[in-house]
Amino acid sequence: MLEAVKELNGYHKIETSRNGKNGHSNGKAAAVSQPETSAKEKQAIETAVRAILANVGEDPDREGLVGTPNRIARMYDEVLAGYKTDPVKLVNGALFDVDYDEPVIVKEIEYFSMCEHHMLPFFGRAHIAYIPSDKVIGLSKIPRIVEMFARRLQVQERMTRQIAEMIDEILQPQGVAVVIEGSHMCSMMRGVKKEHPRMMTSYMLGKYKEDRELRREFMDQLRK
Ligand SMILES: [Zn+2]
Repeated sequence: MLEAVKELNGYHKIETSRNGKNGHSNGKAAAVSQPETSAKEKQAIETAVRAILANVGEDPDREGLVGTPNRIARMYDEVLAGYKTDPVKLVNGALFDVDYDEPVIVKEIEYFSMCEHHMLPFFGRAHIAYIPSDKVIGLSKIPRIVEMFARRLQVQERMTRQIAEMIDEILQPQGVAVVIEGSHMCSMMRGVKKEHPRMMTSYMLGKYKEDRELRREFMDQLRK
């Protein structure tokens, strides 16, 4: 199914084809695959964190902080692991032929991401629907696609689009809908406002973009 992952401006494009027919692929789904963070890269992160500590008025050598640069460097390996996830391996053949063209809905997928403007977490739930053409994807793979895009420096709007486009590329479905709600620490921690609105983003493709009734049905499902 996934024939090639080609490098494109530092990103990797997933190319799919459907029994030789390749009319649908729009080439927009991007997923990054990079080698593990090297010792040299980890060391550079440690040096940078140490500089931050020293410059916010801390003593980077006091007991509680001495291991912090190293902990943060190792933590980024995990919370930013999406840069190293190989989308081909992630999907790993979990595509199944079906004779079913009603919406498949996966909701309440918990995610944790990092806002690229402040490098602070944002988190919440993702809700995904697609209408198969002739294939469905294994249920466990959808949360993993969300995770691959969440574990990067992100803005919620782009993450929403990337998830929709990847599902569109892999499954070539009749339609895809992605709705994401996010609480952003960068807005929650700053300012004096005590109410913390959640941000909602959505991205629709195919029938979900064209058919208002389908969209409404999906939105109604999310309220249940
Ligand atoms: Zn932010």
